[in-house]
Amino acid sequence: MDLNSTYVTISEQFNKKTEYWKDDTLIWNTAAPYLYMRSTADNRILVGGRDEKLFQNVRRDALIHPKMKQLVRDFNRIFPHIQFVPEFSWAGTFGSTKDGLPFIGAWPRLPHSYFGLGFGGNGITFSVIAAKIISDLICGKMKQTPDKYAFSRL
Ligand SMILES: Cc1cc2nc3c(=O)[nH]c(=O)nc-3n(C[C@H](O)[C@H](O)[C@H](O)COP(=O)(O)OP(=O)(O)OC[C@H]3O[C@@H](n4cnc5c(N)ncnc54)[C@H](O)[C@@H]3O)c2cc1C
Repeated sequence: MDLNSTYVTISEQFNKKTEYWKDDTLIWNTAAPYLYMRSTADNRILVGGRDEKLFQNVRRDALIHPKMKQLVRDFNRIFPHIQFVPEFSWAGTFGSTKDGLPFIGAWPRLPHSYFGLGFGGNGITFSVIAAKIISDLICGKMKQTPDKYAFSRL
């Protein structure tokens, strides 16, 4: 798997009474690296993306400020009428597999163990799928992990 770093910035709070964002819409484009944006429960706008193929924490974190500026520019290119004032920005590293899918289930070289390795930009979703599969394997409701998630595809 490859380790990549991703960047996020979040705006100051908007006035709740202001119609600042349509219906809690989540926007995620298909560019590489992608750009996504969404509202939050406390009336902020979160913008993320601008991924880099690096994982060393010092190099990654040195880019937080310039990436914040780029993300605000990206946002304003799409929504020039919304004044986005960044309040917090951060970065994180995540692993991605060649096929973009997680590894879930048993690994023959470590018996009596189960793995739920989320991986990728959809890893939170995959970790929920992993929890379901692993509990079904333990309870005997499922005999083996679906091929697309299994270590056997390596
Ligand atoms: C900024 C950012 C934004 C993201 N946004 C999204 C998103 O919107 N949607 C989405 O689906 N995915 C998103 N992802 C990706 C997602 O977070 C990961 O793919 C996912 O969390 C991987 O899940 P995991 O359970 O495999 O690993 P992790 O979530 O990394 O969990 C591993 C856990 O193991 C613990 N651990 C590590 N070593 C040890 C040890 N020796 N002993 C005990 N515990 C240990 C760690 O503390 C951690 O809690 C994002 C990632 C980043 C960085």
